[in-house]
Amino acid sequence: MNAVDVVVIGAGHNGLVTAGYLARAGLKVLVLERRDVVGGACVTEERFPGYRISSAAYLNSLLQQRVIQDLEMERFGYMVYPKEPAYFQPFPDGRHLIFYTFESPRCDVPPALPASSESEPEPRAPESQRGDHE
Ligand SMILES: Cc1cc2nc3c(=O)[nH]c(=O)nc-3n(C[C@H](O)[C@H](O)[C@H](O)COP(=O)(O)OP(=O)(O)OC[C@H]3O[C@@H](n4cnc5c(N)ncnc54)[C@H](O)[C@@H]3O)c2cc1C
Repeated sequence: MNAVDVVVIGAGHNGLVTAGYLARAGLKVLVLERRDVVGGACVTEERFPGYRISSAAYLNSLLQQRVIQDLEMERFGYMVYPKEPAYFQPFPDGRHLIFYTFESPRCDVPPALPASSESEPEPRAPESQRGDHE
């Protein structure tokens, strides 16, 4: 194997971006990934036969625009698909909540159940946010 200047362990988002910048700076970079797919938590893969899904990250939110430009990612096939509606939340009683972003920013809120309804559980903070008094 030829000598390398830098070895990056892990071909996740940060390892690939780091390797890209180092290579652009003229260094010889070797990226080692333990899996047979690169991208770390930002991959689309066949988790079930015939179904390709985002295993973890599903939304482009943390990738900086500057990185996209610096590494000329569009030249190498980078493309963003707008997600519309932006958010859909189904509820057990059949109602749902939808957030739209692009065409006409709005939020469809279904009618509230009567306050006395027993089918709607009281909202509770996640365990980590609850005080000792509960
Ligand atoms: C459930 C979940 C949902 C998320 N959703 C979003 C989202 O919607 N939008 C968004 O912008 N961000 C999201 N994130 C955050 C985003 O996934 C992380 O910021 C990003 O993946 C971090 O990249 P990374 O390279 O640091 O780590 P990782 O993506 O974890 O990559 C690490 C890589 O290193 C490899 N590796 C580890 N140890 C070794 C070793 N010893 N030898 C060789 N290879 C090794 C791993 O296999 C992996 O490929 C989400 C994260 C999680 C966990």
